[in-house]
Amino acid sequence: MAYSYDPQNIFARILRGEIPNKTVLETAHTLAFHDIRPHAPVHVLVIPKGAYVSFDHFAAEASAEEIVDFHRACAKVCELVGVAPGDGFRAITNTGAHGMQEVPHYHLHILGGRTMGPLVI
Ligand code: 5GP
Repeated sequence: MAYSYDPQNIFARILRGEIPNKTVLETAHTLAFHDIRPHAPVHVLVIPKGAYVSFDHFAAEASAEEIVDFHRACAKVCELVGVAPGDGFRAITNTGAHGMQEVPHYHLHILGGRTMGPLVI
């Protein structure tokens, strides 16, 4: 089944500059910004600039250059916000209805600044 991307989703609008964001890092293929409703002292969202709905879409169809850029950007964000190297962080991505994904543009949550506790399912 083909992936269907909604160009009006909130992160697409952030990427087009229609909605402001608190940017942590921008690279050729990636944008990282603070979550508007943080769940931890550090809560950054890292998104590819390309039109990918979810982790699986990105993993399946993004170019090697985009995938490397994204992960290098994640590492840089962790350094910039002081979680790694350091006390660590949790990286999660919600996918689809069962994953309770709210925004249909792939994003990795980077959470830190406190102990996360056990993984709650
Ligand atoms: P999801 O549930 O899709 O994994 O997470 C979406 C995240 O996007 C939520 O943590 C939510 O707070 C965040 N979010 C939703 N709208 C905005 C927005 O306009 N700006 C920012 N910075 N974060 C947003």
